[in-house]
Amino acid sequence: MDWSQAVRQHYLSLARGDHCQLTYVWIDGSGEGLRSKSRTMDSEPNSIVDLPEWEFDGSSTGQAVGSNSDMLLIPVSMFRDPFLLDPNKLVLCEVVKHTREPAESNHRNSCNKVLEMVKEELHPWFGMEQEYTLLGVDGHPYSWPRLGFPKPQGPYYCGVGADRAFGRDIVECHFKACLYAGIKISGTNAEVMPSQWEFQVGPCEGIEMGDQLWMARFLLHRVCEDFGVVATFDPKPMEGDWNGAGCHTNVSTVHTRKEGGIEHIEHAIEKLRKRHVEHIRVYDPHGGEDNKRRLTGLHETSSIHDFSAGVADRGASIRIPRLVAQDKCGYFEDRRPAANCDPYVVICAIARTCMLEEED
Ligand code: ADP
Ligand code: MN
Ligand code: MN
Ligand code: MN
Ligand code: MN
Repeated sequence: MDWSQAVRQHYLSLARGDHCQLTYVWIDGSGEGLRSKSRTMDSEPNSIVDLPEWEFDGSSTGQAVGSNSDMLLIPVSMFRDPFLLDPNKLVLCEVVKHTREPAESNHRNSCNKVLEMVKEELHPWFGMEQEYTLLGVDGHPYSWPRLGFPKPQGPYYCGVGADRAFGRDIVECHFKACLYAGIKISGTNAEVMPSQWEFQVGPCEGIEMGDQLWMARFLLHRVCEDFGVVATFDPKPMEGDWNGAGCHTNVSTVHTRKEGGIEHIEHAIEKLRKRHVEHIRVYDPHGGEDNKRRLTGLHETSSIHDFSAGVADRGASIRIPRLVAQDKCGYFEDRRPAANCDPYVVICAIARTCMLEEED
């Protein structure tokens, strides 16, 4: 333990009386960044109904103009705080204007309306595979040589050893922090590009998917801060022969999960085929521009211009896992969302196309 950690330990161990520290977390105006600020509560909240609404300066987060800058934070989901420990909480919030209309960056609100329409009948489950890349604070990939490049891709995916697994401590601390917080993290793995990793969250029912993934991202940024390292969700952090980063989205409903559900999966795929362009437009926060760099058709991705689907095909837009094809029921995987997608936007689009069966 270095001296700063020992000092921090001392302060964290000070008695806090009945007080509870709440850290409110929200998505900023970029639609990608997260912000947080903390407050004291006199007693431990039991659920989100106990949590007060709060304000922040939207002109400093790209969410309002200075002359009318107060924005409201509406608590929507509460987690245990793995940094300050029990009874302290992390509180995910929706951002609304003073008129109580959702902020432009608030895609949870409309997503929730869509999911409310299908939840009783379909019980949609989602699981998202969040890929990310570790960087030094200088923006250079973590542990990559200062000059030149690491050895070509090949040994890194699920690799072990100091010459191929860069940043495992961070990954393991994040995993543990997620479990403590109450995130339904289902696993982690080292990715194909060195210093690139993945964690999976799910299955989650409905809107919980977005809430859980956003808080898991916050935890990752916060753990990385402790290590003096940066996590980026840029879908193509290194140009050239290096894999990009996605956020594969796995989907099922009560119909796809039951016997013979494969027919419902195939039906959903045909719906998705017809709306490929619309989905690509919302699978990253820049109308498809970010995914253009990633979905080249090389490096285990489909081309951004084509829609394809297949069993066990990791070069397709949509993959039906081998075991699902064997069992003839289960879920499918949409491999197109970029690592920096807004999960609320992605699952909303999937629900509209595959569950509400909207057509243009
Ligand atoms: P891959 O083989 O694509 O790398 P992973 O193991 O990384 O798969 O991720 C699989 C994801 O699928 C997990 O997030 C998991 O929660 C999710 N998942 C599993 N079963 C279902 C289901 N029935 N419906 C939706 N998502 C599911
Ligand atoms: Mn102030
Ligand atoms: Mn995976
Ligand atoms: Mn992966
Ligand atoms: Mn996958």
